[in-house]
Amino acid sequence: MYSLMIKDNYNIEVKKAFIVYIRSKSKLIEIEIKDEIYNDLQIILNEIINIIQKGYFPKRTKYKSRCRDCTYRNICIK
Ligand code: SF4
Repeated sequence: MYSLMIKDNYNIEVKKAFIVYIRSKSKLIEIEIKDEIYNDLQIILNEIINIIQKGYFPKRTKYKSRCRDCTYRNICIK
């Protein structure tokens, strides 16, 4: 998402991003930004817009393991 914002605001190509896991001794992960990421991001953004504008909720994740430590598991309606 940050890459898309940087790309749009500054009209520059973004090739890398970094994630820092502060709870894991600031472990640094480098991510290569490919064009496919923006396609996937657009799908996610469309889902968010649907939620906000139409009250549509996306399907539950098919990966049950994601629910285990999800912030929203106590209020998830799926
Ligand atoms: S608990 Fe979290 S990860 Fe699982 S379906 Fe609900 S929102 Fe998605």
